[in-house]
Amino acid sequence: MTQARSPHGGRAFLYGRQWRATRHGQRRPRDGPDKALAPAGWSEARAPSIIGRVNPATPETAPPSAAAATEIDALLAGELPLRRDRLLEYLHRLHDRFATLRPGHLRLLAERLRLAETEVYEVASFYHHFHFATDDRAAVPGLTVRVCDSLACAMAGGEALAERLATTLGGEVRLQRVPCVGRCDAAPVAVVGTRQIDAADPATVAAAIASGDHVAPLPEEAVDLAGYRAGGGYATLAALVAGTLTPATVLERLDASGLRGLGGAGFPAVRKWRIVRDQPAPRLVAVNIDEGEPGTFKDRHYLERDPHRFLEGLLIACHVVGAEAAYLYLRDEYAGARALLVRELDALRADPPVPLPELELRRGAGAYVCGEESAMLESLEGRRGMPRLRPPYVAEVGLFGRPTLVHNLETLHWVRDAVEQPAERFAPPGRRGRQGLRTFSVSGRVARPGVYRAPAGISARELVDEFCGGMAAGHDLYGYLPGGASGGILPAALADLPLDFDVLQAHGCFIGSAAVIVLSQHDRARDAALNAMRFFAHESCGQCTPCRVGTAKAAQLMVAPRWDRALLGELATAMADASICGLGQAAPNPLRSVLDHFADEVDG
Ligand code: SF4
Repeated sequence: MTQARSPHGGRAFLYGRQWRATRHGQRRPRDGPDKALAPAGWSEARAPSIIGRVNPATPETAPPSAAAATEIDALLAGELPLRRDRLLEYLHRLHDRFATLRPGHLRLLAERLRLAETEVYEVASFYHHFHFATDDRAAVPGLTVRVCDSLACAMAGGEALAERLATTLGGEVRLQRVPCVGRCDAAPVAVVGTRQIDAADPATVAAAIASGDHVAPLPEEAVDLAGYRAGGGYATLAALVAGTLTPATVLERLDASGLRGLGGAGFPAVRKWRIVRDQPAPRLVAVNIDEGEPGTFKDRHYLERDPHRFLEGLLIACHVVGAEAAYLYLRDEYAGARALLVRELDALRADPPVPLPELELRRGAGAYVCGEESAMLESLEGRRGMPRLRPPYVAEVGLFGRPTLVHNLETLHWVRDAVEQPAERFAPPGRRGRQGLRTFSVSGRVARPGVYRAPAGISARELVDEFCGGMAAGHDLYGYLPGGASGGILPAALADLPLDFDVLQAHGCFIGSAAVIVLSQHDRARDAALNAMRFFAHESCGQCTPCRVGTAKAAQLMVAPRWDRALLGELATAMADASICGLGQAAPNPLRSVLDHFADEVDG
């Protein structure tokens, strides 16, 4: 056993080839699923070698072949000189080409990057979307079918779909059950290669496999660069760069607009900008497009329709805070959006409205925790996406140790409007004394799931009735998750509360990224909470015990018909109080909600 420094300064124990390097940093037998992460009835379905991220690969000990060296050099030829922070990009190149990561390629990649082989392997094995071959010649499935089993898809039959496909797909297809793929309004969803199948069933999945077309299509509704400019796009940025609009004025207007971070935390945008602007140069901007919170798909909605609006917001931000480069971290599940963004970034670079900072698009690899800003920065640096201890905050010491402004896509999407429009127009009076508009992703038992822009302070009942066409036929409102898997669960009796920041905490919930998942009398809150807890157990990065062990243990306990209130309460307190990041701190919310609001389901 050897020891190495973790990205956080702690000790990471590396066990070489006898033990799989894991995202949990634990010793784990190479051939077995992780029972601690595998609650009854769940893990066995997720963990076997062809399903789920747990990988039994045993790197071979023979030296890589000359052919492997030729292959890797050809693949990386356009990437020279290699950069350690782009490790995930190189892994993606290998995986896209060979449908797996082979030990010879990983060894050669480590050599080329002058990294320990274990370091490359521990990074690769942290991310769900990478699969591993046991040796350089092993036959592997050429196609992966992913089936979402997060809450909205599970409610719509995703579990049954995955079970059916497990018995019908041939060995040439790898089946993987995955957490939310960001299409909850089209549940249940399967993804064949990168091509999404909405409202999927075994027949449509089989037809998609047989079609041979396994690539996500380009979003059809997107406004391109010419269309965006025709609508006045990039004029505000140009005015800023020309000096006719000053950074001080932009900050004043941003302040007046009340624009807040819309990735979940709700921190006022202008305060972030001022903090970063006041830090010593060089500074950076990082865009978080890793929206992995189950039930959330609004960033994808805006990206697929109007990519230049957030790009202009990003460029305005870069200019105002004095950032020399911006990194865009896009979740791997959004393959069609990625193709669109590549196209539009190329168009922008070819015909820039102003001199551009360096813009680098990066690809996530299937890790929810990378939506946490410091974990995303770790991933951008080519490491495992493990959240950092704070302080220091990323605005002071962020990406590559530089002051970094981090925003999610939707926040930047609204920057142009916030700067151009009078505050009273950008943020008109909402409801119940609230100000402005909010974007909601709505899924579950409603007639029309989708993305809706509604007044701040609207209630869940009003959102369903006025924007979603009411409840789906045959369904009555029973409860709802106001903020995705981590925001807790509220009963129908509390469906008239305003859905806004700083309101729901009194009820043990929060709005987060405004992902509203609606439950009906055909659902049980305890099932929703169990689904959420299993999700957190699956996604925990594992660096702190309360989260790593607590989520898995809670998921096991929550299977019991009658819940052990005292024990679950202790676990919830430990997770909330002693976890490093928001994942572990919020993981108990759905569990506590059931104990507080749906006691009849678990006290029987
Ligand atoms: Fe990792 Fe969970 Fe700790 Fe966050 S709370 S750092 S996800 S183990």
